[in-house]
Amino acid sequence: MTRLGVLGWPVAHSRSPAMHNAAFAALGMAGWRYQRLPVPAALFAETTRALAGAGFLGANVTIPHKHAALALATESTAAAREIGAANTLTFAPDGAIAAENTDAPGLLAALDCNPRAMRTLVLGAGGSARAVAWALREAGASEVSVWNRTYARAQELARELGVRAVRAAPAADLLVNCTSVGLETGSGVERSATAKDALNQLGLTFDQVGKYSYVVDLVYRTDPTPLLAAASAHGARTLDGLEVLVAQGALSFELWTGRKPPLPVMRAAARAPDALPG
Ligand code: NAP
Repeated sequence: MTRLGVLGWPVAHSRSPAMHNAAFAALGMAGWRYQRLPVPAALFAETTRALAGAGFLGANVTIPHKHAALALATESTAAAREIGAANTLTFAPDGAIAAENTDAPGLLAALDCNPRAMRTLVLGAGGSARAVAWALREAGASEVSVWNRTYARAQELARELGVRAVRAAPAADLLVNCTSVGLETGSGVERSATAKDALNQLGLTFDQVGKYSYVVDLVYRTDPTPLLAAASAHGARTLDGLEVLVAQGALSFELWTGRKPPLPVMRAAARAPDALPG
């Protein structure tokens, strides 16, 4: 049995097991299994080191372990080090642990355009914002602006990655929401009040969303997030968080297996109702 999994706390909501197991089935990879690995922060290092001896080839890493995963690794890519986080670990038989970040190239793969020479705006200054800002800078965006609720964190990110912190959201060609705003769902009147409030939490009004011709939201849920709903209403192109999730998962899959990932299968599994959080 070749084992893979996703380390997180909590991790019950993760769609990665459904996505990867569907890919193994589609490619006839009997004997490959991908599972949830719920591990609290205090046990992350010892559990991760023990995985290799327990038949694990590698693991994805999600909240809150992406920084710890990089620190634990014995080798890492320059991208993971610059971003300061790893979401993919590969275990070698000799105990070596290699760290990679597929969140950044995953975003670029999911975008159906080249951000080269685009003016871009990143909302947020957490782990995913770092990966996205780094990816857009590397891809040659003409401008990478970062807005965050806590301005000091945007400044810190901007200083470390050589991008620009902003106090108010400027117009741009591409907007990527990397905050957790929009995760909550609601219905009816409550829903429209929530939508307005969600945009305000992102420093935007409904009208201001019209300044962006392409809008990406890393938050994923079954229905459009308030940001994507507003962007669609303005006629903008949109990309949801599940597409980005599938793209980063596909890159991890290829890294571990050396096989071309079956993207339509992975996408369908990630979007299937039984893969949704319970
Ligand atoms: P994180 O490191 O915890 O950062 C959270 C960010 O959200 C911070 O910038 C924080 O601002 C901001 N924020 C939280 N609550 C807010 C509020 N009420 N109003 C305004 N800003 C708020 O999280 P992360 O790892 O970057 O993940 C962010 C989101 O992206 C999560 O929903 C995660 O599920 C999603 N994600 C999706 C993918 C994918 O593949 N689709 C990949 C990674 C992450 P402050 O600094 O002011 O606290």
